[in-house]
Amino acid sequence: KFITFEGPDGAGKTTVMNKVVEQFRQEIGDQLLVTREPGGNKISEQIRRVILDRDNTEMDYRTEALLYAAARRQHLVETIIPALEANKLVLCDRYVDSSVAYQGSGRQIGMQQVARMNEFATENLMPFKTIYFDIPVEVGLNRIAEHRDRSKIDRLDVETIQFHKRVHQGYMKVREHYQDRYISIDATQSFDQVVSETIKIIHRIASD
Ligand code: C5P
Ligand code: MG
Repeated sequence: KFITFEGPDGAGKTTVMNKVVEQFRQEIGDQLLVTREPGGNKISEQIRRVILDRDNTEMDYRTEALLYAAARRQHLVETIIPALEANKLVLCDRYVDSSVAYQGSGRQIGMQQVARMNEFATENLMPFKTIYFDIPVEVGLNRIAEHRDRSKIDRLDVETIQFHKRVHQGYMKVREHYQDRYISIDATQSFDQVVSETIKIIHRIASD
């Protein structure tokens, strides 16, 4: 089963996932694939480096969206599909919905257009369920400012805050549109609470 994790910056997605994975490793061992995009294979890692290179400040937003979709495609074909064919439980940190929220809404390319481009990239292979880490924009941004490196804090200017507000709005629309696929977790709860809730939800999905 294909499960994705989505949510805005500072929701605690990665930290929670790491903890949750410890549990499922013990339970099902190598019947579990934990992955994130872009990356996980040679070509996607190469694309990732181009996307994340801070020196590429001239990168056009559509170029960025195309690169995410290209990395996603390769990751899907090389990593996710083989695992699904082997009947593994696949937990993936971000997928199409991230692009729709970040590039479509955040970068204002348009959610529909980014969604359509990703339909091409994925041939419509969407997750069985998506676990959404629900957190108000301000709370997420404050967490980043407190816990992450200086370079991130410096970029918390008005423009950045507006960007993250659009990302959040994008996610809210996606969640509304895919109500049956989305399961939300209140990510403002304590770390332990979020972890145990996430484990419970995955158990339920796995036995669905
Ligand atoms: O997964 P994580 O929260 O670490 O994401 C790292 C960053 O990558 C996010 O802050 C976001 O700005 C960016 N991102 C993006 N578009 C995506 C996925 C991630 O801009 N489709
Ligand atoms: Mg993260």
